[in-house]
Order: sequence, then structure tokens, then C-alpha cells
Amino acid sequence: MLDFEPEDVALPPGHFIGGKSAQGGPSLEVRRPSDGKLLAFVPDASAEIVDEAVSNAQQAWQESGWGHRPPRERGRVLRRWADLIDTHAGELARLESVGSTRPIRDSFSHEVPFSAECIRFFAECADKFGGDAVPTRRDSLGLILTEPYGVVGAIAPWNFPLSMASWKCGPALAAGNAIVLKPSELTPFSTVRFAELAVQAGVPAGVFNVIQGRGAVAGSALVKHPLIRKVSFTGSTLTGAAVMTDAAHHGMKPVTLELGGKSPQLVYADAGDLDTLADRVVRGFTSNAGQACVSGSRLIVQRGIAEQLLEKIAAMVASVRPGLTWREATRYAPLINERQAMKVDAAVRDSLACGAAAYCGGGFFEHELGGYFYRPTVLTGVDDGMLAVREEIFGPVLTVQVFDEEEQGLALADHPTYGLAACVHTQDLGRAMRATRRLAAGTVWVNRFGRTGDFIIPTGGFKGSGIGKDLGRQAFESNLRYKSVLIDF
Ligand code: NAD
Repeated sequence: MLDFEPEDVALPPGHFIGGKSAQGGPSLEVRRPSDGKLLAFVPDASAEIVDEAVSNAQQAWQESGWGHRPPRERGRVLRRWADLIDTHAGELARLESVGSTRPIRDSFSHEVPFSAECIRFFAECADKFGGDAVPTRRDSLGLILTEPYGVVGAIAPWNFPLSMASWKCGPALAAGNAIVLKPSELTPFSTVRFAELAVQAGVPAGVFNVIQGRGAVAGSALVKHPLIRKVSFTGSTLTGAAVMTDAAHHGMKPVTLELGGKSPQLVYADAGDLDTLADRVVRGFTSNAGQACVSGSRLIVQRGIAEQLLEKIAAMVASVRPGLTWREATRYAPLINERQAMKVDAAVRDSLACGAAAYCGGGFFEHELGGYFYRPTVLTGVDDGMLAVREEIFGPVLTVQVFDEEEQGLALADHPTYGLAACVHTQDLGRAMRATRRLAAGTVWVNRFGRTGDFIIPTGGFKGSGIGKDLGRQAFESNLRYKSVLIDF
């Protein structure tokens, strides 16, 4: 039984610096998305607190020699950490679900075990990938040595707090860096417990610090801090641009940017069973109520099956019901807050005013829970100029565009701004491969939607969806810098 009462969850009090919880900065309200009630206050770090956390991390990194330890030893510590995450799964899942949009069933069966596995994956990378000896002149030896950067600044979005933290902290720590993580001010709690468990597992106190606070103050101060040598950011494209600008002007630091998306679900008439397809499409745009970077928010469907597929999609979403995230029976997520709710509704209304039609949904659920729950919404009659097609909405909204010829479908699927993920549904291998090659997206799924637990597959966007990769060997390697050495003898 996973049900719990939100009042029974003990929340970590503030920042986590030097292996201890710390206060500092005025308080920010944190609300529960499910019912809108006040969950707790969290400190809002000033630039001074950020400086304390980063300086502490730098000192701990140097004094502990974390970056010089045998890689297998770092791997052992990370594996112990992953085991602790598993043994504290219930507690972490409750911390995640009490203040985020993730229903407890998903936090417990997905977020927490996936985070533990992600840490294990990077623990395995620690002693597998490194430098190289390279061919040079006969009387010299060319070496490429790898070394950690030092202190990595990581900034995470509000959705999927534990997964996002594991994507960033796993590779940074495995590669021998220290890390200062700023979770979102909307979902700040679970990552503090996550860091406490890392220290309990043997990550030296101070090598993993967490600071709480708003992006414009704490986030920006973190990026600009002179001791931060690399920045790993996940969030919206707009904020990513600000982070990149700050990083360029304050030390020219490398940045990994995992940003927004507007992912197409490209469905050909030969895609197969329509019930299976409808299920995939629905899960693609309603998972976490569409508040996922890879949300499959644009259906591009071939005319022959369009009407039938839409009927099935509408029938499936008709059974969706709002629920509290702390009840095991809940499947459908609330929107994170009022601001996001107004943004989703405004995008839908704007598109309706411009001539789109709501095939289903198009407004909020009526209910007594207190949170903002938006009906899964399917918009037809849209064009590329409409807000719902142009911009990432981050809500359960699917736009539908119908095509006749293969080329037309591919042209519609390619988004001018975003290129995070795309999926193609067809039984024709040649067509699938043509589309895969052609789509300008960092990830292409064929006859499926969504990631698996194969952490070896990197994730990251093209165009406005980002720079660099999380996950995979690429994420590990991006947490190392490469030194070229030439020895004459
Ligand atoms: P956001 O950009 O508003 O905030 C992200 C983080 O950046 C937060 O911690 C915030 O406090 C911080 N921040 C804000 N301003 C900052 C600044 N000037 N300097 C430094 N940090 C700053 O995004 P959000 O609403 O929290 O998250 C949703 C967005 O994240 C969506 O666009 C979604 O697509 C994206 N996202 C992308 C991925 C991916 O892997 N590509 C994964 C999850 C979410």
C-alpha cells in the first residue's frame, strides 16, 4: 500500500552544505500541486550562500582527493549510494510525490529505482572510459589525459527532480568532480535527501552540496561563480540562453544544456494496430500531464487513418481522472502551479481563437481537490503559426496535423525551433530509416514512445532543445576535460 498522508512526510529543512543541513536566505513558499496547499518554506539562497556552498565544495574536493582516488573506488562509493537509494525508496518516493506532480505509484516504481540504476550506470563508467595513447612521430609519445573539472554547477528543472539530479550528479561524481546542485524552487526537497544518502555512502562531505533558491538569484550566482568550472543545466530554452550567456561572460565555462521540446509523433497509415498506436500517442502527450521535455505534443498523421485514430485517442482520454499524488490509485498528474495552468489554458484559447478546434478537452477538470488539473486536449485544424504548435506548452495538449505524402509528413514533423525527440510509427523499415535520418532531433524512437532504462543511450537536443548530452558515455565524458601531452624522447 503506497498511500500516505502529506502531513506525515518529514521535509529536509534547507540547503545541504558540507554534509550538513544549512539555513540562509529569506523563505520561499512551496505548494503542493495536487491541492494547492502550503507544503513548507524553503530558503532562497543569496549570492553569499552560493559562494559558501561552492567554496566549501572546492575545499572538500581538494582535501578529500575525490578526483584523484582510484576510479574503481569512486565506483564502489556510487554503487553503495545506489543501494541506499533503493533501501530508502519509500521515503524518497514520498518526498518526491508530496511536492511534485508525480503520483506516488510512478515515483515508487519509476523515479526512485531509475535514479538508483542511473547512478549504477555511471559508477560503472568510472573506470571504463579515460585517456588514450595516440599515434605520433616515432621519437615521441602522444597522450590524451583526462581529468575532472573541479566543481560542477548543476541546475535542475521542477519536473522529475530525482531523475534529473541523478542524470547530473551521477556522471559528475563518477568522473571525480564535486557538485553543487540547485534543484527547482518548486520541487526542492527530495534532492536534499538524495545528497545526504550520497554522503552516507562515502561521497566526502562537501563534495555534493545542494542549494535552494530562485533561478534568477541563486541559479545565476552559481553559473557565474569563478570556482564553477562546468555547468550542467536542464530547463527551458529561454533560461538555457541566459545560462549560456552568463557562462560565456564569467569564465567561458563549458555548458551542457538540456532544454525544451515540441516532439512530433509521426504516424504513417501502415503503422499497424490502431489501439496500440492510440495508447502510445496518449501516453506520449499525457504522461505527467504533458509536463515532460520529450512530451509527444504534435501528432502528424497520414490521412488514411487520421479520423479513426483520433476517435480512439478521444475515447481513451475520456477515462482520465484527477487524483492526489499521495494516493496509489492516482494515474493523472496535476499541473505544477497556477502560473503553469494559466499558460497552458492561454495557449489553448489562443489557438482556438485563431481557428483551431478542440476535438476533446480544452479546459480544466471540475473537481474538489484544489490543484489545477487540465483535461487531455486534442486540437485539430491547427497550422504552424499557432501558439500551440509553435511553442512548448508543457501541458497535456496534442496538436494534430494531417498529411498525404511521406515528404509532407517529414516536413511537418521538423520543427523550426526545437529538436529534442521525435517518434515514427510505421511497419515499413525503409520509411522508418528515411525518417530517422531526416528528422532533426537528438532522439528518434521507432514504433515506441519514451525512454527506457538503457542509460547507455544519451539524451539531448538539437537546435533550441540544447547542447550536449545527459546520460550515456557522452555525459560521463563531458564531465572530464582532455589534456593533450606530447613527450619527445
Ligand atoms: P526553468 O527554465 O524555468 O527553470 C529550470 C531551472 O533553472 C530552475 O532550477 C530555475 O530556478 C533555474 N533558473 C531560472 N532562471 C535562471 C537563471 N537566470 N540562471 C540560472 N538558473 C536559472 O524550467 P522549469 O519550468 O523548471 O522546467 C521545465 C523546462 O525544462 C521545460 O522547458 C522542459 O522541456 C525542460 N526540461 C528539459 C529536459 C531535457 O532533458 N531536455 C528535461 C526536463 C525538463
